Amino acid sequence: MIRHIDFSSYTPVGDLTVVAICLVMMNLIFFSYINKTRSFRIFLSIIGFLVVSACADVSFYSVVKSGENLFFARLLRCVFHAALYLTFLHFVLYIISVTKLERPRKQIYIGVSVLLLVLVMVIDAFTSLSESRLAITETGIDYEGNNIFFYAYFAFVAIIILLLVRVRNRVYKRVMRGFYGSIAISFLMLLLQGLFDQVSYTVVTFLFPVIAMLYIMHSNPYDALIGAIDSSALGSMVRYNYEKQREFVFMSLFLRQFHEEGKLFPDDMQAAIRRFSSDFFKGALLFQVDNGHEMLVFSPDRNPDYEQRIERILSAFQEVYRKFRYDYKIVIGVSIPEISRKNEYVSFIQNVHRSMPENSIHRIGQEDVERFNKFELVMKEMESIHTANDLNDPRVLVYCQPVLNIRTMRYDTAEALMRLRLEGRGIVGPDEFIPLAEANGYIHTLTRIILHKTCGIVRRMEQEGYRFDRVSVNVSALELKDENFCRDVIRIISDCGVPGDKIAIELTESRSDSDFLVMKNKISELRARGIKIYLDDFGTGYSNMERIMQLPFDIIKFDRSLVVASESSERSEKIVENLANMFSELDYSVLYEGVENEHDEALCKEMFASYLQGYKYSRPVPIEQLTEYFMKNPA
Ligand code: C2E
Ligand code: CA
Ligand code: CA
Repeated sequence: MIRHIDFSSYTPVGDLTVVAICLVMMNLIFFSYINKTRSFRIFLSIIGFLVVSACADVSFYSVVKSGENLFFARLLRCVFHAALYLTFLHFVLYIISVTKLERPRKQIYIGVSVLLLVLVMVIDAFTSLSESRLAITETGIDYEGNNIFFYAYFAFVAIIILLLVRVRNRVYKRVMRGFYGSIAISFLMLLLQGLFDQVSYTVVTFLFPVIAMLYIMHSNPYDALIGAIDSSALGSMVRYNYEKQREFVFMSLFLRQFHEEGKLFPDDMQAAIRRFSSDFFKGALLFQVDNGHEMLVFSPDRNPDYEQRIERILSAFQEVYRKFRYDYKIVIGVSIPEISRKNEYVSFIQNVHRSMPENSIHRIGQEDVERFNKFELVMKEMESIHTANDLNDPRVLVYCQPVLNIRTMRYDTAEALMRLRLEGRGIVGPDEFIPLAEANGYIHTLTRIILHKTCGIVRRMEQEGYRFDRVSVNVSALELKDENFCRDVIRIISDCGVPGDKIAIELTESRSDSDFLVMKNKISELRARGIKIYLDDFGTGYSNMERIMQLPFDIIKFDRSLVVASESSERSEKIVENLANMFSELDYSVLYEGVENEHDEALCKEMFASYLQGYKYSRPVPIEQLTEYFMKNPA
C-alpha cells in the first residue's frame, strides 16, 4: 500500500506558528521568575524539541520542493520525527516528575517509552533514508507500506493515556481537567487536519499541552503593580542557589501596620516599591513574603559594588519614609548556608525582627544565626511540651519569689515564675519563651503545667504545716479568651486537693472593651471558687482607671517602673502615692514590684504599700526553697 502526501497539502504556517509561540513562551519565561525545578527543565527540553521539529519540517518541504539534495531531505524527515518522538518521551518524563511517581512504576514507564523510542527511531531511519520506501516525486511524497510515524504516534499516546490514568489522583482535579482540555483540543486539531487533507498542523497539536504546562505548573505571576513574586518562589530560589553554591544578598522590608491589618499598599507606595525593586540592583527579584513584608534579593556577582548600591537604596528609602511614615524594620544580609540548607529565611528574619526596635536597620551577623538556633530549639521543645501535654513535664520549672506583707512583716505570699530547663541550653528565662508560647498557641499548656506543679507544692507545704496565704500564678491575657480557661484552672486546683484561696491568678489589663467583658466574667467565675485575682504590671500600659475600678481585684501590683519614676521626681512620687492611696481606700491592696534596696523599700512604705516584692528580699528561687521564707506552725 502506498500513502501519498501531496505538496499542496503542506504550508509552513503551522510550523512557523509553533516557532513563534515557543519564542513567546521563552520571552515570558525570561522576564518572569520560574521555580527551577526538575519538571521545569524537562519542560524547557520539550520546547527545544518542538522548535527543532518545526524547523526540520519547514526545511524538509522547502528542500524537496526544490528537488535538490534529496538525501538531506530524508535526513530532515528523520530529524523531524525524532524530535517529536523525543517530545513524547519527555511528556512521559514530565508527568512522572510532576506527580512524583515512585520507583518501580516510574522505571516501567520510562523503560517502555525509551524502548519504543529506540525502536521507532531505527525503523524510521530505515524508512526515511531508503529510496524505495520513501519516494520523493514531483508532486509529493509516496510512502511504501504504512508510515511508521503513525504507529509510533499512537503507541506514545497510549502510554501517556495509561500514565495519566495511573496518576489521576495525584494531581488536583481541576488542574488535571485543564490538561485534559488542552489534550482534547490537540486531538480535535489533528482530526480537522485529516478532514481537510492537511499535514501542516501536526507539530501545532503538541503545543497545546505545553501551553497548559507553562500556565498551570510554571507560572509565578508577578504582582504587576509592585513587581513582587509570590513567596512560594522564594523557597525555590533559595534551594536553587544553595545547590549551585551561589551567594545572594537579601534586603527585607517589614511594615508592621500593613502586616497586622493585612491591607494593600496605597498607589503611591506601590510606585515607590516598584522603583525600589528595579532601579537599584541588576537582576534583583522582589518577593512578597507576607502582607507588609517584602524581600529584595540580588546576586553580589552581578552587583560587585552592592555596598554603595545599598547605601543609595537606603537613602532613597529614608526620603520615602519621610513621606509615608509607616513603621519599618529593614534587615540586610548575605545568604547563610546554614539557613539556606533549612530554607528558613522567613522565620530567621522574623526572629531578627523580635529583637529590633521599630524604624531600624539591621545587618545580619553570626550572632543572629546563633540566636535563631536557640530560638528554634526553644520552639521545638515547647511544641513537644505542648503535644506531650504532661502536667508533670520535667522541662517546666517553677521558680518562686516570696512577697513581704508590710502589716505582719512576714512572707506569707509568693509569685510563681516559670523557667524551662532544656537539654543543650540549661535554664531558659520567660522573656525568651513566653512571647513565643503566646504567639504559637502553647501558653495555655504551660500555664496548666505551672499551675499543677504550684498546687502540688502548695498542698505539700500545707500538709507540712507552713503558714502562708497563697501563691500567685501568671496567666496571659490571651488565655482568658479560651472558653475552657476557668474550667481548666478550677479543675487543676481541685484535682490537687488545694483550697481555691491558696491560689491567686495574676492578670494584665485588657486592651479592648470586648476583652474587658470577657475578663470581667472570668474573674467572677474564679472568685466564686475563692481564687484571688491580682492586677499585674499596673503602670506599664495605658491604664483605664474606670475599667479597673469595675473589676474586683484583690491586689494591684505596681510595676517597678513606677518605683523608679517616684525616685526621679517629686511630681511622679505624688502621682504614684495618690494612686496607691486611692486604691487602698477602695479596699484594694497595693503591692510594689521590683524593690531592690532599702531606699526603694522606704519609699514604697511611704506610698501606701501593703506588700513588697523584689530582689531586696529574694531573687526568684526554685519553688521547693519557699519553705525557707514561710513560717511553720508549732508542731
Ligand atoms: P512579671 O510577672 O512582672 O514578673 C516579675 C519579674 O520581675 C520576674 O522576672 C522577676 O524575676 C523580676 N523581678 C523580681 N524582683 C525584681 C527586682 O527587684 N528588680 C527587677 N528589675 N526585676 C525583678 P522573670 O521571672 O524573668 O519574669 C518575667 C516575666 O515573664 C514576668 O513578669 C511575666 O510577665 C512573665 N512570666 C513569668 N512566668 C510566667 C508564667 O508562668 N506565665 C506567664 N504567662 N508569664 C510568666
Ligand atoms: Ca506577675
Ligand atoms: Ca509584674
